[in-house]
Amino acid sequence: MRKLTDGQRANAYELLSPRLVRYHGGDAKGCRGQVGSRTKEGVTYDVEIGTDSKGLYWRCSCPRGAFQPSEWCSHAAALFLVWSAIKHKQSNPLTSEDKAAYNETT
Ligand SMILES: [Zn+2]
Repeated sequence: MRKLTDGQRANAYELLSPRLVRYHGGDAKGCRGQVGSRTKEGVTYDVEIGTDSKGLYWRCSCPRGAFQPSEWCSHAAALFLVWSAIKHKQSNPLTSEDKAAYNETT
């Protein structure tokens, strides 16, 4: 699985802390959500993360996601962090603080 760089992780947490990430649902194979722009107020992007025979893939409707599909954009990275946490819910339950930060809607 691809790893996030420290910079991508930092950008992702910057999106998580003001609750710009909305998790719309998913399962162990992938998830969907919407993530707000850090710079353009009121702008949100549709993000999808999934797995196929080649491994992990993601799509994001932001300009970076559209033009540089081989790189994580901060929106996909932020949703990935939420998904990672939710995926392991049974063995490592989220704290109420986690849930507040992730703004889980399902
Ligand atoms: Zn994006």
